[in-house]
Amino acid sequence: MTVDFKSEVLKRKDDLKADLFTLLAIPSVRDDEKVTEAAPFGPGPLAAMKKFLEIAERDGFTTRNVDNYVGVLEYGEGEQTLGIFAHMDVVPAGSGWESDPFTPEIRDGKIYARGASDDKGPTVAAYYALKILKDLQVPLSKKIRFVIGTDEESGWGDMDYYFTKEAKPDFGFSPDAEFPIINGEKGNTSEILIFDGANQGEFTLHTFKGGLRENMVPESAKASFSGNLSFADLEEDFEAFKIAHSVGGALAEIKAGEFEIEVVGKSAHGASPQTGVNGATYLARFLRTYHFAGNAKKFLEVAGHFLYQDHYANKIGAAFEDAKMGKLTMNAGIFNFDEADGGEITLNFRFPKGTDALTIKEGLTKTLSAYIVKVKQGERTQAPHYVPEDDELVATLLQVYEDHTGEKGYEQIIGGGTFGRLMERGVAYGAMFPGYTDTMHQANEFIVEADLYRAAVIYADAIYRLAR
Ligand SMILES: [Zn+2]
Repeated sequence: MTVDFKSEVLKRKDDLKADLFTLLAIPSVRDDEKVTEAAPFGPGPLAAMKKFLEIAERDGFTTRNVDNYVGVLEYGEGEQTLGIFAHMDVVPAGSGWESDPFTPEIRDGKIYARGASDDKGPTVAAYYALKILKDLQVPLSKKIRFVIGTDEESGWGDMDYYFTKEAKPDFGFSPDAEFPIINGEKGNTSEILIFDGANQGEFTLHTFKGGLRENMVPESAKASFSGNLSFADLEEDFEAFKIAHSVGGALAEIKAGEFEIEVVGKSAHGASPQTGVNGATYLARFLRTYHFAGNAKKFLEVAGHFLYQDHYANKIGAAFEDAKMGKLTMNAGIFNFDEADGGEITLNFRFPKGTDALTIKEGLTKTLSAYIVKVKQGERTQAPHYVPEDDELVATLLQVYEDHTGEKGYEQIIGGGTFGRLMERGVAYGAMFPGYTDTMHQANEFIVEADLYRAAVIYADAIYRLAR
């Protein structure tokens, strides 16, 4: 059976847009203060998920609401199940919007709203793809299960719950990233370096703080310390350091011989630490030139030498590279030192297949044993995920992409995580096209309207070829 998916999508583009606008108008942000038993992530995500199921029912799909955690709709029958995992929750709007984030608006061919590209737009494009197959009664040999999450942007509590209720589909994709495909996602783990705090010497470090979250590069860090040094000399050293290292910062003398200092670098996502400037490691690098002693010296040596620009964990003894999945990356995300309570540095690792959290921990322990008290393993570890290029799923999706765009498909591995990893044979597929402007999680988030329809065409053909 041959179907002109493009003309089928274009026939429905007004309906698609209207349904998308309805969903975009729901502020489906997780709200922990309004969590109830009936609304596990607050009322917003639930309302959007229910509205989605209502649309699917209107179109004649069989749906089920799994205890207000996820919405499911199914089509077709077969021994194997193709899963499609999308989500209705969005990150908070934040500031800096030119139009209301929950009143979708089209300007210059772009649909602006929170969730336009992550993930309501792609979700609706994939939904219309399935709807077309159903409208045309295209014969399929597999069951399609479309799962709508409500907690993708936070802890994936929706999926943790869902998989206690239903089995995982055999294979599938998540329309929540980019084309041509994301068929590999690195593993994710955190390790906390523990230091003793007590220190005294020519210089004493009182406090050192930097970073908000382990998955973000700390933009800035602050320290307070005492030492036998004139403010003028310190200032001269610091000005030279700032120029030499292209960082910002400020310095103050609290009282004679007691100082406060801040270094400002550049924040970035923790999955790509090499794109940021870690303010905390630069601050430590500056301070370690003075005569600190004992545990302060150890802390500053680790932060300012070992962790300084060590994005691939070479100096700390955890480096690893896989031929397909690339290099392990390390983000030193949170720094805390207090002369009374001791110190901690939280490191977040994104690692390819071939290494694991325990090996990373052993490497750190061995390399840093003279400096730290111990290494503590973080709470959540995710294993690396990779579906080979010659797997039929990946090969088919890349072929569909090539047939509709005329562009050669290629595999991509990322440091972040998508719902694609929920299935052993799962990938992320679209809906953003190469060269797109990434506005996800930012002010003035948008999706190009024409891309929405292009994606729907690709999804329709992809579901058809995977399930026929
Ligand atoms: Zn998303």
